[in-house]
Amino acid sequence: MENLYDKTKFILKKYNISANKSLGQNFLINDDVVNKIIESSDITDNDLVIEIGPGLGNLTEFLLEKAGKVIAIELDQRMITILNERFSLYNNFELINEDVLKVNLKELINKNKNSKITNVKIVANLPYYITTPIIMKLLEDKLDIETITVMVQKEVADRLIAVPGEKVAGAITYSVYYYATSESISIVERNSFIPEPEVSSEVIKLTIRKEFPVKLLSEENFFKIIKASFMQRRKTLINALVNGGILQNKDEVKRVFDNLKIDYNTRGETLPIEKFAEISNYIIKNKF
Ligand code: SAM
Repeated sequence: MENLYDKTKFILKKYNISANKSLGQNFLINDDVVNKIIESSDITDNDLVIEIGPGLGNLTEFLLEKAGKVIAIELDQRMITILNERFSLYNNFELINEDVLKVNLKELINKNKNSKITNVKIVANLPYYITTPIIMKLLEDKLDIETITVMVQKEVADRLIAVPGEKVAGAITYSVYYYATSESISIVERNSFIPEPEVSSEVIKLTIRKEFPVKLLSEENFFKIIKASFMQRRKTLINALVNGGILQNKDEVKRVFDNLKIDYNTRGETLPIEKFAEISNYIIKNKF
């Protein structure tokens, strides 16, 4: 079979197009990496796969062979023309020409689930300029999905799949950890793409939890606290909570900390998720 590098070059030439950098277009040309993505996503014919940013269709082709149905969401009209021609013979393919951040995924999933299509999986080589909003949308919308297998920048991957409290953790680490378990599938070098991105990449897999790891009285308050503490991650948590408008003054924070046995010098970045949950629930319960 023709390899992905030759196929990609051929399609780009045939349609006389080049990658649009501002849309984060880096086409995957490494057959081994594509195989790894497909294998690790565990796709069966009971699955609806939603692919974000199919581009020229380098992953899509393999998804179509395995999935009950593939819905690909692509913003670039040039790609739509190519994908429509390339996959017109597949009856399990649907293409949506839209910004993924504007698509009502909940509705889309409800419409497509039936007695044959019972599970939903997200698979993508994501456009890097909007990785975080896409991941957050997929998680926060509480979609009825099983897994998210995506290629992202390696540096972002490190933060997404860290354990809360680890050095590389950021506010988003806590969100991912709350909604999903995570694993690294493969580190991917720059030369696996045309054009080469400026940084290394990584394929990660998130498996949506059936039960959350902490019980929260208010998710909104919990994530607000985490955001406030990471906005000022070099400061003590006491300062970050006051400056972030979570509590009015240091004395109020100290009262909370006394009750929860948290050291006054603690910095948010070292705090496990359970402690953030305790702080958040205490504040809600005691109506600060
Ligand atoms: N899946 C292809 C591959 O692996 O070769 C292309 C991946 S490329 C990194 C990202 C793709 O996302 C591009 O095709 C780009 O046009 C598309 N894209 C960028 N922004 C988008 C958006 N807001 N909504 C949907 N697709 C988008």
